[in-house]
Amino acid sequence: MTASSGELFDLAIIGGGINGCGIARDAAMRGLSVVLIERDDFGSGTSGRSSRLIHGGIRYLEQAQLHLVHESIRERQTLLRIAPHLVEPLAFTWPIYRGARIGKFKLNAGLLVYQLMAAGRSRRHSSLNAAETLEREPGLRSAGLTAGAVYYDACTDDARLTIANAIAARQLGASVMNHTEVVEMIRERGKAAGVVARSSHSGERRSVRARVVANATGVWQNVFDDDQRSRRLRGSKGVHIGVPRERLGNRDALTLTSPIDGRVMFCLPAGPQAIVGTTDTWTDESPETVHASPADVDYLLRSVNSYFPRAELTAADVVSAWAGIRPLASGPAANPGAVSREHSILTDPSGVINITGGKLTTYRSMAAEVVDKVQQALGRKPRRSPTDTTELPGADRAREIERMQREDPRLAAPLTEELPYTGAHLVWGVTMEMAQTLSDLLIRRCHLAFETRDHGVSAAPRAADVVAPLLGWNDETKRERLRQYGEDVGAMFAIRQ
Ligand SMILES: Cc1cc2nc3c(=O)[nH]c(=O)nc-3n(C[C@H](O)[C@H](O)[C@H](O)COP(=O)(O)OP(=O)(O)OC[C@H]3O[C@@H](n4cnc5c(N)ncnc54)[C@H](O)[C@@H]3O)c2cc1C
Repeated sequence: MTASSGELFDLAIIGGGINGCGIARDAAMRGLSVVLIERDDFGSGTSGRSSRLIHGGIRYLEQAQLHLVHESIRERQTLLRIAPHLVEPLAFTWPIYRGARIGKFKLNAGLLVYQLMAAGRSRRHSSLNAAETLEREPGLRSAGLTAGAVYYDACTDDARLTIANAIAARQLGASVMNHTEVVEMIRERGKAAGVVARSSHSGERRSVRARVVANATGVWQNVFDDDQRSRRLRGSKGVHIGVPRERLGNRDALTLTSPIDGRVMFCLPAGPQAIVGTTDTWTDESPETVHASPADVDYLLRSVNSYFPRAELTAADVVSAWAGIRPLASGPAANPGAVSREHSILTDPSGVINITGGKLTTYRSMAAEVVDKVQQALGRKPRRSPTDTTELPGADRAREIERMQREDPRLAAPLTEELPYTGAHLVWGVTMEMAQTLSDLLIRRCHLAFETRDHGVSAAPRAADVVAPLLGWNDETKRERLRQYGEDVGAMFAIRQ
């Protein structure tokens, strides 16, 4: 931990997902003294289990959520500008089949509105006939295909985007801690006055005093309620599966409507994988143990097979399956897909600012809104920070990793066959990106756990050998970290009821 016990901060943020890390960066940029506390790792919650899209949200047009779409498109353009190393344009093909819920006319009208809302800041969409659609995506079923369209959004590495915000906050002077859990709220005369934090590794407890406390714990939010049962946040579970991309042969991303229930879903290129997702079902599962069920996997396979009949994917083809929970600010509705993805920022009677909902895409503008409230609570005039024009850190990562590999050939050896991750990626993760465990490294600083059938378990001992001297691990700690890694990936990638 870097904050010393009793130190007084302007702002303490609980939770290092995209929202907490974004708030930390914005507040630090405005000159506030900030402490950010994350119980596990930055991006280990919902923010590292998303569809990895920075998107306007074409599907929200159907629900007439124009404000959300407008904000999302603006933020997409901002993130493309301030983080070109983390956010890249992505072309989507949307095939249209006879009898589809969203037909050619409706889709083209929607894309036109989408285009107009981008006000010329996005590549133009185009309509396709059936032959042109098949030319773009030859693996698609041709029977019943009547037309298609191509439009542009963006994709990211969700966990790395989250971590980049934490790093930026730290570079601006914030105290930033992962693997440190807030176990208690400090209250004075009924008002929040700080938190008690405990290091997950040493068990050491510290009191961290703060003038304002922001709770950005997403689906964990109820942990600080006096009566947890009365306000348990109900979230919506979203499952993704990763399958070998060569089996589908998709060239770009695809937007599809599931033939099972008509929901909009995606098939996304991700290195050697195609990621298919997502489901959207209410859940009371704990965010720590949420996982895919056989029924979730079956839904995604049946949906994607109906578009790519030659793939004939079965459960045996699934390389990995994982789940996240959307913390929805409003609800409950019968259908979680109909609940707005807008965020809510509410100050409770003790003065804690609670942040719920939102999207990865809109985190930056939501963070600005939260920090305005923090400044008001501090009795200061809200002053905007240039988060929309200042580049996020990490642009030099690829170059520096290459340099390390050149200088020390042992760091150039791949950790596993067919994937590009090497010891240099791990050294960078520890020295520059605050990674402390094998899960931090193999799940979030690189995607090895998502992209291998054993989720990196066979590569983990080599990874541990590389980072042990940097992290001061002796043989016993190494064994314990390997055991913990097996447990983490066992929980995250399990497919069971
Ligand atoms: C399946 C799925 C797909 C999605 N796809 C997209 C997409 O493609 N694009 C998009 O824009 N949005 C997407 N979203 C939405 C987006 O991922 C979420 O809105 C966003 O990640 C929420 O971030 P958060 O910071 O609020 O929560 P989280 O990322 O969950 O962060 C909360 C953090 O709080 C920490 N915490 C909890 N308790 C404590 C404590 N006591 N002390 C300290 N820390 C604590 C947790 O460990 C966690 O890291 C998707 C969501 C899901 C579920």
